[in-house]
Amino acid sequence: MKIVSYLLAAILAALGLIFLTGSQGQLVRLAIGVVLLIAAGAVIYLFRSKPQVTQHTVVQQIDLSGDVNLETMKCKVCGAPLAKDSVEVKAGAIFVACAHCGASYQLEEQPTW
Ligand SMILES: [Zn+2]
Repeated sequence: MKIVSYLLAAILAALGLIFLTGSQGQLVRLAIGVVLLIAAGAVIYLFRSKPQVTQHTVVQQIDLSGDVNLETMKCKVCGAPLAKDSVEVKAGAIFVACAHCGASYQLEEQPTW
């Protein structure tokens, strides 16, 4: 989504410049150009101020409140609830080894954007 946001901002900025340079003294075109440039800036600003959940925080949450989180975690292979010792954090990634069906896999992150 990062690229889309910047692409949108670039398109808005380009249109704004076109209106500004092609305004030929017409106030309406000048105003449209300014509005488009402001919109382009707003898109970048909104995107940059958007908090991003990193893998680090995900791992921390599981470390700190493992019991709470694991109550809602289920094996994606057999659906059995996962015990606390079925989950391991290795090299910043979360690995699950299901005690019920024996499946082991890396837990996928849920992108928030
Ligand atoms: Zn399982």
